Amino acid sequence: MAALLLRFFLTLCALRVAAYTPLSDKTLRNLPGAGGDFDIKTGSILAPILIPRVPGTPGSLAVQEHFVDWFSTNLPKWNVEFQNSTSTTPATGERHVPFANIIITRDPPWTKPGDVGRLALVAHYDSKLTPVGFIGATDSAAPCAMIMHAARSVDEALSKKWDAMQAEGSIGLDEEKGVQILFLDGEEAFLSWTDSDSLYGARSLAEQWDSTPHAAMSTYHTALSSITLFLLLDLLGTSKPHVPSYFQTTHWAYQNLAGIESRLRSLGITQSTSDGNFLPETDKSVFHNSWGVQDDHIPFMARGVEVLHVIPTPFPHVWHTMADDGEHLDIPTVEDWAKIVTAFVGEWMDLEGYFPEPPKHARRDQDRKTEL
Ligand SMILES: [Zn+2]
Repeated sequence: MAALLLRFFLTLCALRVAAYTPLSDKTLRNLPGAGGDFDIKTGSILAPILIPRVPGTPGSLAVQEHFVDWFSTNLPKWNVEFQNSTSTTPATGERHVPFANIIITRDPPWTKPGDVGRLALVAHYDSKLTPVGFIGATDSAAPCAMIMHAARSVDEALSKKWDAMQAEGSIGLDEEKGVQILFLDGEEAFLSWTDSDSLYGARSLAEQWDSTPHAAMSTYHTALSSITLFLLLDLLGTSKPHVPSYFQTTHWAYQNLAGIESRLRSLGITQSTSDGNFLPETDKSVFHNSWGVQDDHIPFMARGVEVLHVIPTPFPHVWHTMADDGEHLDIPTVEDWAKIVTAFVGEWMDLEGYFPEPPKHARRDQDRKTEL
């Protein structure tokens, strides 16, 4: 009998580990939009990022402050840290330019850092030195904003799930999962893209994390190996993007993301007008390209981190021009991406059943909009 019970218990544990619960239609329908927070002039999330933010300049500092203030005000349970480095660049001569990566983490409250596998949501927040005044709305202000909105949209569900696990005494049965945001600095080249003139922040962070071990007996050896998936968003925010699946080893994650997009579309929740899906390569089976498009994932991937790169091919028509500004964003597309990412985090973290009901006034607003 005891052996039977033990087997039953072990089966239960195995099932828990394998759990990956899709969000229900109702949960998808109730996911909040960012609304006014994505307004390019006044939005509390997006507008403060739509300024030139070249590393080491006042604009960069202002955006760093925006991230820190926004998280401490809205999401105080997320831990904010900086990882700093400096480097000379081909455009700045002997002067050492400072680069500040911002790392924002939410782990289950009972865990030690070395025991948590994390879904990393990644975008770079620096803007390009030239042309002077370049904003980089898709590159990557809008992706940063999408990630902030996704974090806010899962925050309460994370608390509820973890509170419930503690209350029922089920902690420790499952793998420990957390969410981590990496806002990386110095992605852009100062002069022209080379291995040494690009990815300043990503190279520094990957190297530092790879060489800093966690405490002995930790589940994960380093903060780098704690990343179970590096979900990198870049060049998103113009209409009708075409995002290929770049890597065979994370094609399953691409399929999950694409599956969420299809469900949002069939439920009529998406806001953008599109001829097809943003993520059309669900059935891809042959993968040629080993590194994909050069971007912040490279130093991480080179160290064995699994990467899902969400970047369109072709690039947006505004790429690296003055036209990559707030006015050229397609906000319905930005909203749709934010919702796709939110749902992906919700499924990754098994949050079905823990999302809050939308406030009554929001439901009334929705009804009124439908009537109009
Ligand atoms: Zn760029």
